[in-house]
Amino acid sequence: MTDTVVTTAVPLLAHWVDGAPFAGSSTRTSPVYNPATGLVTKNLALATAADLDAAVAVAQAAFPLWRDTSQARRQSIMYNFRELLNARKGDLADILTAEHGKVTADALGEIIRGLEVVEFALGMPHLSKGDYSENVSTGVDVYTLRQPLGVVGIISPFNFPAMVPLWYFPIAIAAGNTVVLKPSEKDPSAANWLAELFTEAGLPAGVFNVVHGDKEAVDALLVNPDVQAISFVGSTPIARYIYETAAKAGKRVQALGGAKNHMLVLPDADLDLTADAAVNAGFGSAGERCMAISVIVAVEPVADELINKITERMKGLKVGDGTRGCDMGPLITKVHRDKVASYIDVATADGATVVVDGRGIEVDGAADGFWLGPTLFDNVSVDSAVYIDEIFGPVLSIVRVATYTEGLDLINASPYGNGTAIFTNDGGAARRFQNEVQVGMVGINVPIPVPVAYHSFGGWKNSLFGDAKAYGPAGVNFFTREKAVTSRWLDPSHGGINLGFPQNE
Ligand code: NAD
Repeated sequence: MTDTVVTTAVPLLAHWVDGAPFAGSSTRTSPVYNPATGLVTKNLALATAADLDAAVAVAQAAFPLWRDTSQARRQSIMYNFRELLNARKGDLADILTAEHGKVTADALGEIIRGLEVVEFALGMPHLSKGDYSENVSTGVDVYTLRQPLGVVGIISPFNFPAMVPLWYFPIAIAAGNTVVLKPSEKDPSAANWLAELFTEAGLPAGVFNVVHGDKEAVDALLVNPDVQAISFVGSTPIARYIYETAAKAGKRVQALGGAKNHMLVLPDADLDLTADAAVNAGFGSAGERCMAISVIVAVEPVADELINKITERMKGLKVGDGTRGCDMGPLITKVHRDKVASYIDVATADGATVVVDGRGIEVDGAADGFWLGPTLFDNVSVDSAVYIDEIFGPVLSIVRVATYTEGLDLINASPYGNGTAIFTNDGGAARRFQNEVQVGMVGINVPIPVPVAYHSFGGWKNSLFGDAKAYGPAGVNFFTREKAVTSRWLDPSHGGINLGFPQNE
């Protein structure tokens, strides 16, 4: 836990288990802040291992009935959920802004990307169809079924409190699994809101459960023998830990980690479009996106002109309370804000040029909010912690290089491989880049290349542990297991003893 202040003058948020709030047995709580005011708005119940196990037992008990519920019925409940979520997305956006701090328009964008996955999951009867081969041997047919796994666990990060759970649970549930979601303790209310909405849509009790907590709850989820699979999104050290621990316990795991995303700008790029993209992708959501651009690799001679254009645009950005029509909100906690701000001193010490210092910026919001304005560094050394660390805040670094190859080599040397983008008007260079770059998601004149719901999302290297990406076809594959059936309807002509390995004829 990063914050230790606990106040009792605010409501307690409980877990959601078996279709209703669940108090659990824990006496530990964690404060939930409004980052735009700095005030504690809720206390969050932190589950014990016993609370977590109780939720898994509920999900396990709900599984047989849900698995055997017809696809038509499951689809109709999913459709109701889609309609309710679409109709009430404004309410959810308010919750996101109040606990994460992102501005209202950005919160709505997050929900709409999540809705896309619900719409994709509506196609589950088609997506989970098996194959059929007739007469593979005389009178023998082979076909495949895709079946749900059972109880699946989801562990999500603070930066997309609605979208990341929505990457996973609609597909898991549409495929017939039951779910225990452990959201981030920093902005937990969206998860309860989504679970309650799904109940209203007709989802049977116990199919979708939310358990709040920290390491104690996560560790219990990772080793509970009734949990078949773990889907995780968060920082790289925790992703690695989740992958190793859950795999050792015999579960399937998809574990998406952190990032350091580079934008390569070639000399022929349209620098106005590039500057717009850099500002949007660097400072949107206060840089707290795993697909945020944090490094601009400028192939000379474009750096000076690009920096001028970016700086001009930064001057117009309004920072403040996300409910007031600002461009950028606060950071998630005071501790995180202070850590991000400390990189400004690191940059100076390491010889970078601080082009724009986000400290002390004028803000449209309360004095105690967790503010830091957009910050820009030039001449960043690749040996500096500013370049190496995932800062996860409104900080853009410029690294100047002489050639395309030098820029490509830099990107490929990164231990992360989540997203990257190239800005150019040269189709041949872009095509070469998409082939040569060692990154899982690539944008060509697109700064945040998050794939649509019917493709899959995930990085390479330390940005994803395991081999399963999120949502899209990879999500269907992850949340189902294939069974191959070989069938022969009895025919007396095929009797007789033969101990040899079956051959087809
Ligand atoms: P985090 O790793 O601190 O927490 C993620 C989840 O893990 C939370 O639910 C948290 O409670 C739990 N957790 C934290 N420490 C734990 C521990 N020691 N043991 C067990 N569980 C623990 O991440 P965060 O700060 O909430 O989110 C930001 C990070 O997530 C960034 O690194 C960002 O790049 C990454 N992220 C990645 C993607 C992606 O798709 N690759 C998407 C969003 C966010």
